[in-house]
Amino acid sequence: MSEKKSRMIDIIVPCYNEGRNIDIFFDDVQAVVSGIEGYEFSYIFVDDGSEDSSFDNIKEIAAENDCVHYISFSRNFGKEAAMYAGLKAANDRASDFAVIIDADLQHPPKLIEDMIRKIEETGCDSCAARRVTRKGEPRVRSIFARAFYKIMNRYSDIEIIDGAVDFRLMNRKMIKAIVSMPENQRFSKGIFAWVGFHTEWIEFENVERISGESKWSVWGLTKYAIAGFIDFAASPLKAIGVFGGLTTLGSAIYLIIEILKTLIVGKDVPGYASIICLILFFGGLVTAVLSIMGEYIGRMYMETKGRPIYIEKESDLDE
Ligand code: UDP
Ligand code: MG
Repeated sequence: MSEKKSRMIDIIVPCYNEGRNIDIFFDDVQAVVSGIEGYEFSYIFVDDGSEDSSFDNIKEIAAENDCVHYISFSRNFGKEAAMYAGLKAANDRASDFAVIIDADLQHPPKLIEDMIRKIEETGCDSCAARRVTRKGEPRVRSIFARAFYKIMNRYSDIEIIDGAVDFRLMNRKMIKAIVSMPENQRFSKGIFAWVGFHTEWIEFENVERISGESKWSVWGLTKYAIAGFIDFAASPLKAIGVFGGLTTLGSAIYLIIEILKTLIVGKDVPGYASIICLILFFGGLVTAVLSIMGEYIGRMYMETKGRPIYIEKESDLDE
């Protein structure tokens, strides 16, 4: 055995109605991490206001295993808030590493070992997983996801790897950086990219969840994608400016042409259709511009309230 003190890794598990998965998940992860030497593993289960038996299951496991800790929210705050709560706890405990992993076993626990090895070998700050297949996922979702990554990478300030999931091991520096970002409306894929640091990727094939259903509806996912884009891109605002400038220029040219026509050819009563067209065009344009600006202003408004990211109901980490 090495003399070196083993390093602490917190396994952060966001859970929302995972009652039927938690026990299997815990057994599977234990089977993997118990074989890894030189590290001391703890679990931070974050119960995101589950309505099923999730929290009872977590507390049962915690009662039997000293390495298991929990935080429970007062209501459902979303996976983003749950991940933040877990990372904040890992930061407060000054753990050396944290790994975020889903409770539905869609993130193969076996990869935790590969991630650790990758960090040891390359000295990188973070090792993240990316899905190379989307097998078993609804087709519409795959199509939208692909389009989202394309748009995001082209027009936002950050680069997001296609297929990147939130399954990621990171060191203390990176945990600290993420926790220091106090934004309320969080988009972790963007935040991970934005904080920088050396990240290595490992690939895996998509796995279907063991039981229960994904919490993402098409509408929910669409809202999340738009919000994520807005969080990291000011380009729509610039695009509006360019568009506004071009239409103003266009209408100025059109006006000059009309004036010249009147002077040369004389007054022409018709033109009704073109006026209606212009009114409709600009009416639509102004509404579109206002709604894009409204999205940004709405998010600014929510952010200025400075509400907490989550509200804790119960935790064993406070003592
Ligand atoms: N999750 C959460 N809060 C939510 C929704 C999901 O903590 O409001 C957790 C969920 O329990 C799971 C992980 O986030 O551990 C991923 O959720 P899900 O499987 O529904 O997403 P998908 O795998 O379809 O992207
Ligand atoms: Mg899942």
